[in-house]
Amino acid sequence: MNFETAAVHAGSIKDSTGATHAPVYQSASFAYEKAGEIECVFQGKKFGYVYSRISNPTVTAFELRMNALEGGIGAIATSSGMSAIATTAFTLAENGSEIVASKSLFGGTYLFFKEILESSGVKVIYADFNSADDIESSISERTRFLFLESISNPKLEIYDLKKISATARKYNLPLVVDNTVTTPYLWRAKDFGADIIIHSATKYITGNGTAVGGVLIDTGNYKWNSHQSTKIKSYAGKAGSFAFIAAARSKVYQHLGFAPAPQNVFFHLLGLETLALRMERHCSNALKLAEFFREQPKITSVNYPGLNDNRYRQAALRQFGDRYGGLLTIELEGREKCFDLIDNLKYAKNLANIGDTKTLIIHPESTIYSNCSGDEKSNAGVNSRLLRISVGIENINDIIEDFSSALEKI
Ligand SMILES: *Cc1c(COP(=O)(O)O)cnc(C)c1O
Repeated sequence: MNFETAAVHAGSIKDSTGATHAPVYQSASFAYEKAGEIECVFQGKKFGYVYSRISNPTVTAFELRMNALEGGIGAIATSSGMSAIATTAFTLAENGSEIVASKSLFGGTYLFFKEILESSGVKVIYADFNSADDIESSISERTRFLFLESISNPKLEIYDLKKISATARKYNLPLVVDNTVTTPYLWRAKDFGADIIIHSATKYITGNGTAVGGVLIDTGNYKWNSHQSTKIKSYAGKAGSFAFIAAARSKVYQHLGFAPAPQNVFFHLLGLETLALRMERHCSNALKLAEFFREQPKITSVNYPGLNDNRYRQAALRQFGDRYGGLLTIELEGREKCFDLIDNLKYAKNLANIGDTKTLIIHPESTIYSNCSGDEKSNAGVNSRLLRISVGIENINDIIEDFSSALEKI
């Protein structure tokens, strides 16, 4: 199946009613006629649903569809992007482990590493992922995985994934890629060496800001039999190449209660059907808006990977095929001007989300990063002059008009 077809058909549930959408199995538990039958299900001798904290048929439909879109061997849907990251981290790392992560990360991920993972005894080493040398010198025998974002949010860095994957291979480490900003539509990260792919399904996958959710996918690139994690080792024999998914589901996800509500997953499934169409529009609108911003004297800088002089244009061109995503950042003279611009916008919503059909804007320094130190902000590329814009799928002339008239007033 081609991408657009899989986005509509993969993982469909066929039932006797002929329903064309996955039913919302809003049921905490699943009953069996015979005691012997449920015994077999519990012992893993027979497939069946038991309890929705472990698995649920609506959730399975979404997992199968995401797995098809990323070309994986297995997927787990979670209650949020954060719980997909947490499931992955706790499956691969434990007290005494280290991980190597990019310095340029989404604020929530950075805070999870700092406030939860570090206090669980996992040391997080931050490296400049533009430099293979910096990554290599951060790796030790205690390193359990490498972590990066496909297009980092909000700094918009894009790395050469094949190169980083070669470093990961050299040290036999899995490479975890947060693919939220690119989605499987811009690239199949598996083909560039990603081992585990993570999404916040809240963003482009659902696409209209209706539900928080996440998903992780094992691409099958990494051979788990030699991984050092205790949880993976306990499954390497029994589960073979599925050791990661098996360990993640039964040793982390179900214990932490990270399962999504089936109703939310229904919105993810609905969103996926139009992902390809939306991404095309997000990308073309963002490029046009970036070009417009570049001509505005009140805007002192524009960061969009699709602009000719952008440092990451070539990496994006090579990996995402002349498409550069829907996120961009601009800088104005100072914080006051940023606030004034936001206050004068008519359509663009001032909120903390990305990947919505609507154009969204936020001043990250006073909001998402308000509790971060100066160093933490600068690693994330955040300063008081910066605005992040998630370009929606409205008619681009209306978005430009909205910004143009707001700029005139400030
Ligand atoms: C939003 C986001 C997350 C976290 O996802 P939630 O669904 O909000 O928990 C992780 N990574 C990136 C790049 C994000 O934009």
